[in-house]
Amino acid sequence: MLYQRSSALFQDAQKYIPGGVNSPVRAFKSVGGTPIFIKKAEGAYIHDEDGRAYVDYINSWGPMILGHTHPDVLNATVEQMKKGFSFGTPTELETEIAQLITSVVPNVDMVRMVNSGTEACMSAIRLARGYTGRDKIVKFEGCYHGHSDSFLIKAGSGAATFGNPNSPGVTQGTAKDTLLAEYNNLDAVQELFAQNTDEIAAIIVEPIAGNMGCILPNDGFLQGLRDICDTNGTLLIFDEVMTGFRQAMGGSQERLNINADIVTFGKVIGGGFPVGAFAARAEIMNHLAPLGPVYQAGTLSGNPIAMRAGLTTLNLINNDREIFSRIDNATEILATEISKIFKEKGIANHINRLGSMMSVFFTEQNSITNFTDVTKCNHEIFNKFFHHLLTNEIYIAPSGYETWFISDAIKDTEINKTLDAVRSFEF
Ligand code: PMP
Repeated sequence: MLYQRSSALFQDAQKYIPGGVNSPVRAFKSVGGTPIFIKKAEGAYIHDEDGRAYVDYINSWGPMILGHTHPDVLNATVEQMKKGFSFGTPTELETEIAQLITSVVPNVDMVRMVNSGTEACMSAIRLARGYTGRDKIVKFEGCYHGHSDSFLIKAGSGAATFGNPNSPGVTQGTAKDTLLAEYNNLDAVQELFAQNTDEIAAIIVEPIAGNMGCILPNDGFLQGLRDICDTNGTLLIFDEVMTGFRQAMGGSQERLNINADIVTFGKVIGGGFPVGAFAARAEIMNHLAPLGPVYQAGTLSGNPIAMRAGLTTLNLINNDREIFSRIDNATEILATEISKIFKEKGIANHINRLGSMMSVFFTEQNSITNFTDVTKCNHEIFNKFFHHLLTNEIYIAPSGYETWFISDAIKDTEINKTLDAVRSFEF
């Protein structure tokens, strides 16, 4: 049996951990079967407990842009550990990483480090509310901004995969301040502003969405949001947890040439350690404690080991900007070739891709631009495709509502192995 030890470990895990996992999508619930338990990872590969090595297109859901256990990040982090694990005091390292981030990310003067993307987005909307003195926010159907209460309303990612986009436990009082619009639909946003004049603190958006599968912003969509925000005294928050330091060193702001007012980060910024961050111009960040009244804090925020891993990762990328064209090209080859193979096989599909993020949708439609489009795709074929790839030691996200993340460790060997597996797919 391919997944014998994983299966036994999953049985045990379910006794002590809800669903056997510490984050829902890991449970393979929507695709069925046994989640593979991972023992170690190196470069482009993760190795499971049954001794199989998979080409990894999840890359810890985005952080491992350099591939796993990059030697420089490993060495720097181990050296840092020898100096102590956590101090709860300021360190020089935190200034170094903040300086680097503000020098490469457009339109931000200051950055505050937190421990996850959830915290970054949760804190960003508190700051926007404190800054504007308004309560409401606009979010888009199928976008995911972490699991804090305000965002679990028509949320993407696992919430969409499991059919619980609106989580019980979120009070109506909280939910009423989250206004919803369809992604890529500026008219819907205009309408919300017309109905809630001077009440909307912020629009939060994934500038390139990755949590309902990969959905690209239509031409003019983000600029339209920018204009609406400017007209209404509302802040534009780009959730760059997935896209930051992946779509470009300056994230989507740089790649798509649109400025946001607050930017949130996670994933790549921590190099695989639990880190998130939010950043903005000084006039906004000055409202944050201890300078201003908007409270935000964290026992382990700016943890030296996480900062060292993040700083080393960001420096490696910053000093080798060719990485972006390498991972973009690898992803383009995958997208083009997979599409060609499916066409030959007569399997209806549409692939969305920008940079090193992509999703394969099984559909007759020739564009997939919002959450409703994704729900109409054939998720049964996706599940078969997922299991076929897994059997062939190719690891993509176990849901049609997620994106592939390509790392710099994925080279021709891995791409060819992947395409061979796609070629043998029958449904
Ligand atoms: N925002 C986006 C765009 C994300 O993709 C995620 C996580 N996938 C989050 C926020 C939440 O980050 P975390 O899981 O680190 O809390």
